[in-house]
Amino acid sequence: MSSHDFDLLVIGAGSGGVRASRIAAGHGARVAVAEEYRVGGTCVIRGCVPKKLLVYGSHFAEDLEDARRFGWQIEGKTFDWAVLRDNVAAEVDRLNGLYQNTLDNNQVKTLLGHARIIDAHTVEVEGQRHTAGTILIASGARPFTPDIPGAEHGITSNDVFHLPTLPRRMVIAGAGYIATEFAGVFHELGVDVTLINRSETILRGWEPALSDRLLQISMAKGLNFKLNCRLERVEKTEAGLVLHFADGKTMETDVVLWALGRVPNVEGLGLEDVGVALNEKGAIAVDADNRTNVPSIFAVGDVTDRVQLTPVAIREGHSFADRQFGEKNWHVDYNAIPSAVFSNPPLGSVGMTEAQARNAYGQVKIYTSDFRPMKNVLAGRNERALYKLVVDASSDRVVGAHMIGPDAPEILQAVAIAVKAGLTKAQFDDTMALHPTMSEELVLMR
Ligand code: NDP
Repeated sequence: MSSHDFDLLVIGAGSGGVRASRIAAGHGARVAVAEEYRVGGTCVIRGCVPKKLLVYGSHFAEDLEDARRFGWQIEGKTFDWAVLRDNVAAEVDRLNGLYQNTLDNNQVKTLLGHARIIDAHTVEVEGQRHTAGTILIASGARPFTPDIPGAEHGITSNDVFHLPTLPRRMVIAGAGYIATEFAGVFHELGVDVTLINRSETILRGWEPALSDRLLQISMAKGLNFKLNCRLERVEKTEAGLVLHFADGKTMETDVVLWALGRVPNVEGLGLEDVGVALNEKGAIAVDADNRTNVPSIFAVGDVTDRVQLTPVAIREGHSFADRQFGEKNWHVDYNAIPSAVFSNPPLGSVGMTEAQARNAYGQVKIYTSDFRPMKNVLAGRNERALYKLVVDASSDRVVGAHMIGPDAPEILQAVAIAVKAGLTKAQFDDTMALHPTMSEELVLMR
């Protein structure tokens, strides 16, 4: 046993940190985890989980509308934001408790407070110093806020779950995951939403056919878009907020939500004192073993800014703990990571876009299915789903699958197994359709 207080001290009790702590403790390590806010991290406390619950909550607006065409008459429906907000907050509290139990049950000591690394084996939390054989930084990331006058009048995804009342108007700056997801949520809840972005692209990096479809459907639903614009300042007035754009135009709103990407939480950790190097993006630089340039200090998850997704951070934390404390030498496979945008309608994607596949393989075959889901037809909802398969022509392997439409993320997870396994288009075609479903389109594309 080492002379240190702990074998492992983890900074940050989010997805990556909690998994690493639990697995290391399971291998017999003496573990502590420092957390300055709430155990659970971004995903559980102010990200994926409460967001998804708001997505569910907001979608009832359309479901109740569509229900009429299925014979249901629902009179006097109203929506109470406080009920949804507080129920979501209560669920977050419950999950926070479960995460704490996981740590406690695995004999992981929780150190509440801000952690600062003093030297290669020492961390200070709330004035108390603790030594550890290994330090793992899993401090995550936070929303980026722009450096323009009046930016402080805007809110971020951290605040959006606690809005005291629903605003009448909301401007969302950005057109990535967070912007498109909250645009869908607040539009459904009756807020007049305008999404503004510096470029003309929404969901940059996604298969363009799908992001175009989302834009088209969103506009038809009544969301406003102001693309190719540069916001110069935000002014607070008696009537609300006034946005001033570079072209001299202005716009009034009640709330501005910054959804402009997330930056790694590297400040205040003492990294410069101990000499932990950052990469060109300002994230902690790590090698394939998640080790920083200081041999006893490692990092996982968003603070390393490789792939900002919860399941990736969890696996990184798990593999780190197995390698360091369990003598199980495995590494995260970053190939074919599925991802989803919980916009309305949602998108799911795995593998290469058409353009990426053309670069990689030269010859590709593209299969698409552009259809109106059965439920939308009866509901009189003019929204089409779009599925796209990208196939390497020489091997017939399906190297990318992309979809937008109802339940796309749920369907995509299963398709991701096939793409990850390297199945061919012929094997997709060999699979009998499951009728009547939307996902049967995946095996019926000719
Ligand atoms: P994204 O990277 O998805 O999108 C950022 C948006 O902000 C883009 O539209 C980008 O424009 C714009 N932008 C970036 N920097 C600036 C700037 N300096 N000035 C003006 N506009 C700017 O970031 P998000 O904040 O939406 O999400 C962060 C990450 O969190 C995601 O990338 C994802 O990894 C993760 N996430 C995942 C979710 C999921 O899995 N469902 C949900 C939420 C978040 P442009 O296109 O021109 O670059």
